[in-house]
Amino acid sequence: MMFWLLILSMLGISLIAAYRGASLFHWTVAMTAVLAGFAAFTSISTPAIIILSVLFAAIAIPLNYKPIRRRWLSEPFLAMYRKMLPSLSETERVALEAGTVGWEGELFAGNPNWDTLLDQQWPELTETEQAFVDGPVETLCDMLKPWQNAHELADLPPEIWAFLKEHRFLGMIIPTEYGGLGFSALAHRAVLQKVASVCPIAGTTIAVPNSLGPAELLVHYGTQAQKDYYLPRLASGKEIPCFGLTGPTAGSDATSIPDTGIICKGKHDGKDVIGIRLDFDKRYITLAPVATIVGLAFRMYDPDGLVGDREDLGISLALVPRETPGIEIGKRHMPLNVPFSNGPIRGKDVFVPLDALVGGIERAGQGWRMLIELLSVGRAITLPSSSTGGTKLCALSTGAYARIRKQFNLPIGRFEGVEEALARLAGHTYAISALSRMTASAVDLGEKPAVPSAIAKYHATEMARKVISDAMDVHGGKGIIMGPRNYLGRGWQGIPIWITVEGANILTRSMMIFGQGAIRCHPYVLQEMSAARLEDKSRSLEEFDRHLFGHIGYSISNAVRSMLLGLSFARFAAVPSDRKTGKYYRKLTRYSAALAFASDIAMLTLGGKLKHKERISGRLGDVLSHLYICSAMLKRFEMQGRPAADQPILAWAFHDAVYKMQTALANVVDNFPGRAFRVLLAVIIFPLGRLEKQPGDRLGHKVAQLLLSPSATRDRLTSGIFISKSAQNPIGLLELALPRVIAAEPLERRILKAQSAGKLDTGNRPNQLGEAVRKSVITEAEAEELRQVREMVAEIIAVDEFESSVLRMGVSIEETSTTEQAA
Ligand SMILES: Cc1cc2nc3c(=O)[nH]c(=O)nc-3n(C[C@H](O)[C@H](O)[C@H](O)COP(=O)(O)OP(=O)(O)OC[C@H]3O[C@@H](n4cnc5c(N)ncnc54)[C@H](O)[C@@H]3O)c2cc1C
Repeated sequence: MMFWLLILSMLGISLIAAYRGASLFHWTVAMTAVLAGFAAFTSISTPAIIILSVLFAAIAIPLNYKPIRRRWLSEPFLAMYRKMLPSLSETERVALEAGTVGWEGELFAGNPNWDTLLDQQWPELTETEQAFVDGPVETLCDMLKPWQNAHELADLPPEIWAFLKEHRFLGMIIPTEYGGLGFSALAHRAVLQKVASVCPIAGTTIAVPNSLGPAELLVHYGTQAQKDYYLPRLASGKEIPCFGLTGPTAGSDATSIPDTGIICKGKHDGKDVIGIRLDFDKRYITLAPVATIVGLAFRMYDPDGLVGDREDLGISLALVPRETPGIEIGKRHMPLNVPFSNGPIRGKDVFVPLDALVGGIERAGQGWRMLIELLSVGRAITLPSSSTGGTKLCALSTGAYARIRKQFNLPIGRFEGVEEALARLAGHTYAISALSRMTASAVDLGEKPAVPSAIAKYHATEMARKVISDAMDVHGGKGIIMGPRNYLGRGWQGIPIWITVEGANILTRSMMIFGQGAIRCHPYVLQEMSAARLEDKSRSLEEFDRHLFGHIGYSISNAVRSMLLGLSFARFAAVPSDRKTGKYYRKLTRYSAALAFASDIAMLTLGGKLKHKERISGRLGDVLSHLYICSAMLKRFEMQGRPAADQPILAWAFHDAVYKMQTALANVVDNFPGRAFRVLLAVIIFPLGRLEKQPGDRLGHKVAQLLLSPSATRDRLTSGIFISKSAQNPIGLLELALPRVIAAEPLERRILKAQSAGKLDTGNRPNQLGEAVRKSVITEAEAEELRQVREMVAEIIAVDEFESSVLRMGVSIEETSTTEQAA
């Protein structure tokens, strides 16, 4: 009996130690104390205590005595590890080293401290930034005519370009001392969100000069002379920038660019100088057709040793003025009917002096590092912010339209099928907005959020794809017929653009999020890799041993935590105590431990091969992403003062994300190589099975209803987009009509009732109101209100019609090439 009690005590202590992540030393002390206690104070038999003590010593001594541990455990493992270690290309090494680790590190490590998240600052716009958003940005949005820009001009009109330049929209990230606006990431986000909610062409035109490109490169890496010359010109719009990396053979695999820069002697401004002769072929370059200064990525060579003794200097960046001889620029691509300026740039024997290199010759060969470092910030802002603007517009307009548009005598938003789409739309909009807000805030708090920015880019655009599809479905034909009245079609057409740029989404999900996250966020892997690569063998072993045993303890702890949290529904997890959201934090703690354990098993068993197991890394990346998205939603909920009315949307978005997490983990478990590992993962991660459910119908119904009428919740969900006050603007009209349509619903019901009772004729609606007044169904004033409301509704459901000649673009490709040949 005592023997079994001792075994149980030892097991219990081991589990508690593992759950709490106690050190090996503390576990050893606790176990020794238990053995000693049983020996001294209980009637346990001496042989039993001796056997157990010997067994314990056989385990504890080699683990605690480092010379033995290193010689017999760590050394052979290190030799094996070195063979498994993935070979890292320069590109991958740079990507892994880029950026900082913030909240995502806690989520990845399996035991997030929620106070860290909740105590994190939540920056707000400054007064100047808010005034800009309420002033010039509102005015710009009012001036934009999306249909004219996209269809008639395939460009922004001169007055919009002039306005953008005058108000320094193209220099938001340029510091004020150089004439820019010096905005925070949050302000940058607020501007893009608002503009993108009106016109994707204007949104892109503003986004590009403020993201990866000449201005950002110069701010961070430019020489003083380059900053002094270019930044004021870029801020004022005197220079329009573009940045060319992609070419026909190098898309996702951007480091394989075949474009070259050969260091040689040549003439510049009539003088003999050392410079670079560039040959390049770039495509898809945004703003290239109108750019005056081209940021260019190429591989630089110094065959004659003019600047040093290395021939292949690596990827380098230069700023090349448009008028430089040899450049071919100006033609346009047509990106999916969203005709912002985009086109190819080619160059043959383009000679520029060495000081055209971004950062000068000292930064030769550092091009890829510069791009990756900047991308870790830029990806957190441009596309997540634009997606937020677009999806908020979809939520606002689709909710209003679903209330105003009637079929079968009911607003279509009352049908359960439409409710499903509305709930998804609201939930995803909530999630995207929280995600984009949190990543932009992270930038303002000094992070370079490499992993969250990849999460934000991928998930904001993927969820936006779902939102715009749902919005289109709910609008039916109204969303399909293009024209000035259509506020959705262009966004729906354009979504694959945002999916493709800044790292195409399949690649971002499969390689970047987990690939980078696993190594960057893991508390031991990067250190183990560095230790294994150390030249000094004894230091290598010493450090490897330290990290390895830290890692083993961490893995055991996560396995135990994952299983116990799964078995107990995470009841004992330390989370902020709140009845409503406490259970959410608990669930996230549980899945965080499960992710940490599954990641370790994946890295341990697959090693370098994990890089090519994109299905597994994509799914583990999904889990990390949804943990991050849920954290962002909870943080937003807290920062907004826990509005009870928003709770259903939070709940829907949360359960949706957790269900997706479970699906991703389940797919990892079910498809993991090796049956034994599948069983182990299933037992540890899902000890009670897969219990998460998709958001239920009652919750979906509540959420959908929140979109159908004006409320503080609807305002919070869609805040920050442009809503015109004019009835001439389709969104302005929707917002003006919605409260009046709702107020008129009882009158419409009275008329329907009178019709069913045979008191009113069922046909001929124009006369119907007069008859209803005559038969005292409604008053004259009510009839007038109904007349006006019906007129508004008629305009809202109307679509555009064109003469055929208006739809013809005018110039055929054949005509263009004939004209070119003649020229
Ligand atoms: C409208 C538009 C504007 C752009 N603006 C610019 C610009 O201003 N400057 C600039 O330099 N570039 C720009 N780009 C280029 C953009 O960044 C590239 O299109 C993008 O990097 C993908 O390259 P690709 O189109 O050649 O696709 P590919 O590289 O051919 O990829 C095709 C598909 O394969 C997937 N894939 C590729 N490799 C992997 C992998 N290892 N694992 C999983 N999936 C993989 C991709 O995710 C993608 O889905 C722009 C592109 C477009 C369409």
